[in-house]
Amino acid sequence: MASIVVDGLVVPVSVAGHPALDFCNTRAGWGAPAPKEYLHTYAHLSVWARENGLIEPSTMPALRRAAARDPDAAAQVVARAVAFRSALYAVLVGPGAGWDWDAVNREVQAAAAGSALGSAPPVRLPASWRLVDQSQVDLPLMAVAWSAADLLTSTAAAYVAACPGAGCGWVFADPKGRRRWCSMAWCGNRNKARRHAERLRQATARR
Ligand SMILES: [Zn+2]
Repeated sequence: MASIVVDGLVVPVSVAGHPALDFCNTRAGWGAPAPKEYLHTYAHLSVWARENGLIEPSTMPALRRAAARDPDAAAQVVARAVAFRSALYAVLVGPGAGWDWDAVNREVQAAAAGSALGSAPPVRLPASWRLVDQSQVDLPLMAVAWSAADLLTSTAAAYVAACPGAGCGWVFADPKGRRRWCSMAWCGNRNKARRHAERLRQATARR
């Protein structure tokens, strides 16, 4: 896993092949004692959603104002996003017994209720679903939930793999079953370095 700085905030790089998968990667170290969290504040959530094409850059000023007007509501959106992310991750990689469809559906249904069919000018088909209120504070979460619904109802959902790198667990689309690491440059190389160090240690011990 790796990160970049955008608008002064540390956000994870997108490697997964679908925004809903990259949303799961706003946490690293799934199952590890000390996970790495990237969704600290509402600003992190909204900037991440914009960077991943889930919300229009033009919505950012209104979202910032809405969050400043009601910080408690903004914090609540972040808490809901974190809970939704856990439920989504479990559905994608966990055993079926641990699936919590209620937790997934709560946010997906909220996003569906806030969406309408339409067509951007010039009016032509096919139409697309659009979140109606582009200034409400939970827009980034609704956009993520809508994207997750798209993923979960596509064949890509059956080809999700998790990176085995230490402290990682990032998910990505792996339709050919050939990808092992979230990125060869990070977890792949770290693993190579660790194996090399291990071999050196064993050779030294034998001497
Ligand atoms: Zn990894």
